[in-house]
Amino acid sequence: MNSRIQFSDFNLSKEVGRAIEDMGFEEPSPIQALAIPLIQAGRDVTAQAQTGTGKTAAFGIPVIEKIEPTKRCVQALVLCPTRELCMQIAEEFSSLLAHLPRITVLPVYGGQPIERQLKALHAGVHIVIGTPGRIMDHLDRRTLQLGDVKTVVLDEADQMLDMGFRDDIELILKKVPQERQTLLFSATLPQPIIDISKRFQNKPEFVRVQYAELTVPQIEQSYIEVKEREKLDVLCRLIDLEDPQLAIIFCNTKRRAEELSGKVRARGYRADELHGDMKQSQRDRVMSGFRKGAIDILIATDVAARGIDVDDVDLVINFDVPQDVEYYVHRIGRTGRAGKSGKAVTFVSPRDFTKLHEIQKYAKVQIARMPVPSQSDVAETRIRAMLEKVREAVKAGGLESYIRIIEEESEEDHSSIEIAAALLKIQMEVSTTGGQEEKRREDMDFADTGAEVGMVRFFLAVGRMHKVAPKDIVGAIAGETGIPGKAIGAIRILDSYSFVEVPKEHATEVYTIMKERTIRNQPTGIEPASGGNKPQRY
Ligand code: ADP
Ligand code: MG
Repeated sequence: MNSRIQFSDFNLSKEVGRAIEDMGFEEPSPIQALAIPLIQAGRDVTAQAQTGTGKTAAFGIPVIEKIEPTKRCVQALVLCPTRELCMQIAEEFSSLLAHLPRITVLPVYGGQPIERQLKALHAGVHIVIGTPGRIMDHLDRRTLQLGDVKTVVLDEADQMLDMGFRDDIELILKKVPQERQTLLFSATLPQPIIDISKRFQNKPEFVRVQYAELTVPQIEQSYIEVKEREKLDVLCRLIDLEDPQLAIIFCNTKRRAEELSGKVRARGYRADELHGDMKQSQRDRVMSGFRKGAIDILIATDVAARGIDVDDVDLVINFDVPQDVEYYVHRIGRTGRAGKSGKAVTFVSPRDFTKLHEIQKYAKVQIARMPVPSQSDVAETRIRAMLEKVREAVKAGGLESYIRIIEEESEEDHSSIEIAAALLKIQMEVSTTGGQEEKRREDMDFADTGAEVGMVRFFLAVGRMHKVAPKDIVGAIAGETGIPGKAIGAIRILDSYSFVEVPKEHATEVYTIMKERTIRNQPTGIEPASGGNKPQRY
């Protein structure tokens, strides 16, 4: 099934390979497959692909591989239009550098105190990611030297031009040696970008990912707007509501699939996962369980789901909005096969709306909004389903002996209506307690950990003596749990231990996951901190 280009085809260092693995990327996205080899070959590249297709890693991976860690000077410069993007790119770079701690990255954007940036620049950083305005500031102050830059990336070039950064870009590029590699990434390639390319690039290669006409089968498609942390609850309710025979839930990474699969099983559902790393024998076992109905929920990644051949899937849930329009079409094509009816529901968190619009545009489909199913929706559907069964049973007949029992019972004190209502009530209770409700795992209660309001403070058994810096802690927690680096609060690093605050809603997840992980090769020793300032142990 793996005829596509794999990350292993790129000859990457094992550190970067491991980081990609940690990030849960299974295979290069189409734009990565096209751009990475050209950048590795030293070409100037202009790459066009829509938002959300992994352009950051497309330049991040080869740029990182070119850095010489022993030279303490700026060797790569990434220009991007906004502070928000600047932070996002820096985060992605930090994840890619998880196993290369000697290579340093500095985001440089307006609004952040310039002193902090000065200190870091002075200490020597290898990669600077910045907005043109702030980079200009540093050039004016002579606090940033670009004389050793080998690679320049203009990310979201179309947006930078729209924001009027053309002249700044020109001035900045003048400070960078001529014999450099210049990479240009953009969602669109209007004429002004072509002009920029002509002006600043040397025999550029143009690569672009375009979408062929995609035909979408006739499947009822809807989306639910849901915050990341509420996805699990909504998922369970949706499954209760739809009561599928066979459902496939798609996640974007194998780590997310594994974690979700554990959580869903903990809530009493018969679920199993399928991802690209599994051996054929494991896949076969899972698939045969699914076909036989021993598992009714399959949690899969895109790669793993390729080649699944099951006709009776009646529900597909996109737990994550797919990376790529093509993936969306493939995912929903798993249902509604062989003339059966199917349904696809996509979970959309506020930051995914752009992607949802692009999917609708490129796949030419209408995806209708569906309200978050409520507990009473679930109950109502279950009752309706039950009454339908009752109607069928009445039609089928053969009820004589039961009728006699009810007649006897209603001669006592109860009307037959009361008896029917009581039977329905008992039946409904059986069908809820039989499954999910009881097994629901509560979030842990981290009482007083001395954190800010809304946060939980954790103790970590790693500190300065293990050469741990804040970015290692942020990188490890963000990388392992998928919570955004930005959400992580105060960090305090002492000699042999540290403290970190994370939002309450993520605390259980951070605790359970990080218990099993390391930071700079040390077990985290994570524990909720005790109220005062003193660590729990030591
Ligand atoms: P773009 O710059 O094209 O809009 P990003 O670089 O921001 O897209 O990537 C969007 C998301 O996709 C990010 O969360 C990123 O970590 C993720 N991603 C990138 N490459 C891959 C991959 N090969 N497999 C899975 N996820 C990926
Ligand atoms: Mg981008």
